[in-house]
Amino acid sequence: MTADAKIQHTALKHSQKGQTSEFVIQCPVCKMLQTINIENNSMAPTRKFTQIGNRIFHDCSNIKPCRLYRIT
Ligand SMILES: [Zn+2]
Repeated sequence: MTADAKIQHTALKHSQKGQTSEFVIQCPVCKMLQTINIENNSMAPTRKFTQIGNRIFHDCSNIKPCRLYRIT
């Protein structure tokens, strides 16, 4: 497991059932930052990011999963 994947896994795991957690997501490719919500291990739908399994990918790249930083 890479460091990025580990951060992601932890972030998704920490979102409790029935609770929405706010995260900042950063694309490792273009460095774009965006605030997203995660509820029940699922990311709230956004235009620029896609969740695949427990990883989230920016629409500029489907190779590297984005990093998540918990802010709430
Ligand atoms: Zn990107």
